[in-house]
Amino acid sequence: MSRYTALPDPFVTELLAIPGFREFTEGFSLCPECERCERSLVYLTPAEQASARTLDMRLYGKGSATRLNRKGCRCPFYLGPAQGCSAYADRPLICHLFPIDIVEHEEDETYWWVLFGACEEVARGKLQGRVEEARALAREIDRRMPDELRRSFMADADAAVFEPVFYDHPIHYLLPLTPPAP
Ligand code: SF4
Repeated sequence: MSRYTALPDPFVTELLAIPGFREFTEGFSLCPECERCERSLVYLTPAEQASARTLDMRLYGKGSATRLNRKGCRCPFYLGPAQGCSAYADRPLICHLFPIDIVEHEEDETYWWVLFGACEEVARGKLQGRVEEARALAREIDRRMPDELRRSFMADADAAVFEPVFYDHPIHYLLPLTPPAP
């Protein structure tokens, strides 16, 4: 059994139960030549931060910006193009969601579900032309997401370190994140 089974946020179980979610977010073949997400910052939810600390994992940043790696360094779980993720089954929530994510919209500073065109699967792989499916999935994820996690993603987006690689490619804005109850 993997040493990291306790790492993923409990919401991952809910994600995996959404019809079509696994088919959409697994089975990518272009990761070895793309690697953009493996070289980006891997943020952890509050539950994942707590688990990571009990697992004695090295963390960087603080608060909402707590993550597995430093800017410019790839994810410590990534073993290169041939072997990929060494903790794939136990990867954090943000990795389960990718290339769907939540960001702050540049135009009005509201929070949106997006599909990153920086992912080669979106640009020219199995997710090419599937923006409407991504929108339907984001709607369902948004409906199920607990408010605590909603707040955590909003804080993440505020505290995130800007990574130009994701903004040098098209960003498909899917729908606004439903704000948490006051
Ligand atoms: S945990 Fe795995 S899937 Fe997530 S960025 Fe690291 S190597 Fe990639």
